Amino acid sequence: MEFSLIDQFFKTLPNLRGDVLLGIGDDAACLALPQGQTLLVSTDTLVSGVHFLPEWSAYDIAYKSVMANISDIAAMAAVPSWITLALTLPVVDNTWLDGFSRGLHDSLSQFNVSLVGGDTTKGPLSITLTIMGYCSYDKVVKRSGAKVGDIIFVSGPIGGAALAVKYLNKSMNLVHRNELMDKLLHPKPRVDLRDLLQNYANSAIDISDGLSADLNHICVESGGLGACLRQKDIPVHHLLEQYLGEHAMAFALTGGDDYELCFTVAAEKVDAFITEAQRHNIGCYSIGVIQSEPGLRIDTGTQYEPFVPKGYSHF
Ligand code: ADP
Ligand code: MG
Repeated sequence: MEFSLIDQFFKTLPNLRGDVLLGIGDDAACLALPQGQTLLVSTDTLVSGVHFLPEWSAYDIAYKSVMANISDIAAMAAVPSWITLALTLPVVDNTWLDGFSRGLHDSLSQFNVSLVGGDTTKGPLSITLTIMGYCSYDKVVKRSGAKVGDIIFVSGPIGGAALAVKYLNKSMNLVHRNELMDKLLHPKPRVDLRDLLQNYANSAIDISDGLSADLNHICVESGGLGACLRQKDIPVHHLLEQYLGEHAMAFALTGGDDYELCFTVAAEKVDAFITEAQRHNIGCYSIGVIQSEPGLRIDTGTQYEPFVPKGYSHF
């Protein structure tokens, strides 16, 4: 690939980490994994017109791509550290690349993640990021660890990003649109929950596909369990009811792209967990309980309604 392009837009990003022994420029990067830690690796592809719109700014496309990847490492309770970028571009547009490079810089530097390599090819716009992180294996929090009786938490309000997508081509109050687009374009991966998850959680997942679908992943991976959620305790984004009325709750449960975490904590550890979360000023919402009966149920206060888990699916 043209070295000038790589040198100009990717090699110039600051390498904040001393553990990048060899970064961009050779045939492979060389990374020093801290003693006793295991490597976690996760890849995400974002395709123009599917995951983002080509008219979005290059800055936002890069920024969101990085944050979505960091969220996967956050969901494992690991430390995000290094990233590679496979970029396919239709044309070399310096203005676009400059914005893209700035979006990479601003997102990566917030979490002390270094871009250590990649590949650049010509073709329809597509971005594949591979993020690496580390954690000692006994502290990794998996989807598969939930137990019957675990209390289910979600780390923040849900549905805002999906509402932004729903209203992309519809009129909306500008202040509201700005707030929702910020949710969609600038998600904040919850790496701040790492110690809490390591110390208290039996299972965790990021809810990029929507709470109901991702909680269902926890249930299925944990041996075919189920969940009951209390409707009144589910933190629905504050604008949903105004725009969606009675459909707000179902929309919030199925809408993706929020990048909050859903996790479960053994009932006997919940008090200590909440105390510790408050001590660190981290708000989490207790929304329900893991049960042995498969499937999801919503406790509406008057009855238990089955809820078919649904989320985003490409196929
Ligand atoms: P190779 O022929 O070995 O694949 P390339 O010319 O593709 O080498 O890449 C040269 C160097 O630039 C490599 O170290 C590679 O990791 C890095 N690189 C290429 N494209 C990107 C990119 N989009 N972002 C970051 N690093 C990149
Ligand atoms: Mg290459």
